[in-house]
Amino acid sequence: MSAISVSVRDGIVDRLRTRLADGAVLSGADIGDRYSVDYTGENPHRPVAVVKPGSTDEVAVVLRTCSEFAQPVVVQGGLTGLAGGATPRKGEIAMSLERLNGIEELDPVSMTITARAGTPLQAVQEAAAEAGLLLPLDFGARGSCHIGGAIATNAGGNQVIRFGMARNLVLGLEAVLADGTVISSMNKMLKNNAGYDLKQLFVGTEGTLGVITRVVLRLVPRLSSRCTALCTAESFEHAVTLLRTVQTGLAGSISAYEVMWASYYDKVLEIVETLRSPFADSHSFYVLVETEGVDQSSDAERFESVLAGALESETITDAVIARSEGERQTFWAIRDGVGEITPALSPYVPLDVSMDIVAMPRFLEAFDRALAAELPNSLNLVFGHLGDNNLHLFVTTDHEAQNDRVVELAYGLVGECGGSISAEHGVGSLKRDFLHHSRTSREIDLMGRLKQALDPRGILNPGRVIPG
Ligand SMILES: Cc1cc2nc3c(=O)[nH]c(=O)nc-3n(C[C@H](O)[C@H](O)[C@H](O)COP(=O)(O)OP(=O)(O)OC[C@H]3O[C@@H](n4cnc5c(N)ncnc54)[C@H](O)[C@@H]3O)c2cc1C
Repeated sequence: MSAISVSVRDGIVDRLRTRLADGAVLSGADIGDRYSVDYTGENPHRPVAVVKPGSTDEVAVVLRTCSEFAQPVVVQGGLTGLAGGATPRKGEIAMSLERLNGIEELDPVSMTITARAGTPLQAVQEAAAEAGLLLPLDFGARGSCHIGGAIATNAGGNQVIRFGMARNLVLGLEAVLADGTVISSMNKMLKNNAGYDLKQLFVGTEGTLGVITRVVLRLVPRLSSRCTALCTAESFEHAVTLLRTVQTGLAGSISAYEVMWASYYDKVLEIVETLRSPFADSHSFYVLVETEGVDQSSDAERFESVLAGALESETITDAVIARSEGERQTFWAIRDGVGEITPALSPYVPLDVSMDIVAMPRFLEAFDRALAAELPNSLNLVFGHLGDNNLHLFVTTDHEAQNDRVVELAYGLVGECGGSISAEHGVGSLKRDFLHHSRTSREIDLMGRLKQALDPRGILNPGRVIPG
């Protein structure tokens, strides 16, 4: 049996070499470690071969060939994913899209940009900025992740409250199905109700239904003014009231609303020695509010007046407005300090969940109670994009053997609160078996039927997203 599978595998690598450009297929020692695991570092596996198509036609050739051989393929973008989706499983070929790179068109009249899927997100942002426009999709992995990967995972980030997730920016795309069929839907219009919106089959489906090869994205005018403040609140209800206050008073201009629970804020300031809190006292909640607009002086006036009103009504207890880019960066360094504190806190479990704002206190109370009962030494550090319903939790444990229990407890409670086990990082292979906490059996069954219809041989990213 194993001799047959090895000869099939040898056969496919040779066949791919004859059908693709020189150097597009790596095997054996040439593969190296780069293609073995995504950013999680979990369950690394060296792929059987790595193919690097340089065009949509070559992607189609790879998939057609893999389909003929019933050869499983894992699609790889920048490998910054946090759900294990791009990590090869045993016996898989990895298809890396790194050679499918480059901006094809920037259309300043339509305010759109057309890029190949393997273009780094930052390169797309920079091309837009050169034309005086903004791609309002941004997060920490911008330099390494691909635009195709960001769309395949429907990535979020810090500006979702204003511009939505990656899905909201995709006007058109081109994708290749598992059998090599190219579906070109390179639409530039905002309105197009002529039949099914087929691009949605590929946005957020993590490469299970097709490989994204090119995209058309919506751009917005670049914003020229910015106001940032760090505020303190003494209860979750006050943090929510402040959200509604700024959404009303600063209508349409909020670009970030980041809430840090004291557990997280205090730990960042304890560990990162270069950071200082701008407040003399401790508080229960810290809120980073940022707006972007087009007139610094009038925007700042309105911003200050809304925060003054919030202080007067005792919604917040203190507020510091950034008076320089340096001060603004300090506020953001506290919010982004998670990357700096986690090495000191290992082992830990990172969780990315979402739920109705109303359910958040109930969830956190129940989760903290369960942790105290079962893992009394653990710490639960919480921060989140509150306006997007998104909570990030970092739970420390005594040893890694406890991590699975933390995940079970958290996802069980997320399910009970009607929330999602994945707010923005996707399901991949790591959260697949927990999907039932957030999706009904009929929803999961429909996902399976779509998968079967588009990939009947099950060669494309098998074992990701859909349980079973
Ligand atoms: C430091 C850091 C910060 C991050 N911050 C955020 C954040 O704020 N918000 C957020 O939402 N996410 C965040 N992420 C995770 C984010 O989802 C990924 O960074 C990014 O979206 C994945 O892009 P990638 O090209 O690296 O994809 P990969 O990791 O290579 O792949 C991810 C998944 O997409 C599939 N895929 C990749 N390319 C394609 C394609 N062209 N066609 C079809 N399927 C494809 C893969 O098979 C896999 O299932 C962060 C990650 C890091 C490391």
